Amino acid sequence: MNEPRVLPITDALARPLRDLRISVTDRCNFRCPYCMPAELFGEHYQFLPRSEILSFEEIERLAGIFVGLGVKKVRLTGGEPLVRAHLTRLVEGLAAIDGLSDLALTTNGVLLGGMAVDLARAGVGRVTVSLDSLDEDVFRAMSGRDGYSPAQVLAGIDAAEAAGLTPIKINCVVQRGVNEHTVVDVARHFRGTGHIVRFIEFMDVGTLNGWDLSQVVTAAEIAERIGAEFPIVPAEPNYRGEVARRWRYADGAGEIGIIASVSQPFCGDCSRARLSTEGRLVTCLFATGGADLRGPLRGGASDEELAALITAVWAGRTDRYSEERSTQTAQTGPTLTAGPSIRRRIEMFQIGG
Ligand code: SAM
Repeated sequence: MNEPRVLPITDALARPLRDLRISVTDRCNFRCPYCMPAELFGEHYQFLPRSEILSFEEIERLAGIFVGLGVKKVRLTGGEPLVRAHLTRLVEGLAAIDGLSDLALTTNGVLLGGMAVDLARAGVGRVTVSLDSLDEDVFRAMSGRDGYSPAQVLAGIDAAEAAGLTPIKINCVVQRGVNEHTVVDVARHFRGTGHIVRFIEFMDVGTLNGWDLSQVVTAAEIAERIGAEFPIVPAEPNYRGEVARRWRYADGAGEIGIIASVSQPFCGDCSRARLSTEGRLVTCLFATGGADLRGPLRGGASDEELAALITAVWAGRTDRYSEERSTQTAQTGPTLTAGPSIRRRIEMFQIGG
């Protein structure tokens, strides 16, 4: 078989295109107040109709084109990816793409227990599981649902480990006054398990969560809290562009990561493109819009034409929102409420974080 032809591309700031995050659904079984608040996403909320969502065949075709432009890693996300029907079929299709070396998935974990084996069999290599707190009440408040518990997520993590979906990362968003007091418990629980908890500064993504700087617990403060209980030492990044700063437990019980998108942004190394549920190419988590790929795709564009479109968008990319936001933050101090300007941004559930 011929080697796949790869023509790697870089953007206007010399950043290569390496990672693609695909949001496979805008639906979610959680209603996290910081992402899809229940009062806005109630029974009557109109999610995208099926006809507007990319089909598996469309996603696979686009993913193949992205791999031809240098993408090595694909992450499936959402919404909640595990609520998309027959997801394993998509996984099988993606896993068959020559040149794709890493197929990962981010999930809230409550459906993972029943799906881990099938996901692994279909070709998912590893999972990241979101878990904001082990405290029942805090978990319920942060997931916006009564029906779920941290125990279900832990069962999902165990199933993923048994199915070989490792190394497992645990995403824990830290919000001032909401779960900062349970951060050390999360660290304690996963110390020594081989799973890597990544604590995430609460970000001003989207427009729905009423973000302001006072709700952010900074990376420095998170490290201090955990370090006070379990001494930690900084570790070298695994690769250029790694989003989490790594810390090792001094006693050898493993490591944690802290994602400091607000206090220490990392746009300079960003090699991630995002494909939204309805087929827009988005080049920044904080973007106001994206380039429509679905229109040309359904309009009969060839692979070469789609590759040229993606290349043009990526080559023209200059966004570095988080870095610009921190310049502003430094200038204006904690009264800043929504970044450089209050813009209409894409919501996290549409592009998946
Ligand atoms: N449903 C899946 C999940 O829960 O992991 C995937 C999508 S979810 C949008 C991806 C991640 O984004 C989750 O870990 C979530 O906590 C995180 N997230 C959402 N809004 C955020 C915000 N404002 N700041 C930081 N992280 C956020």
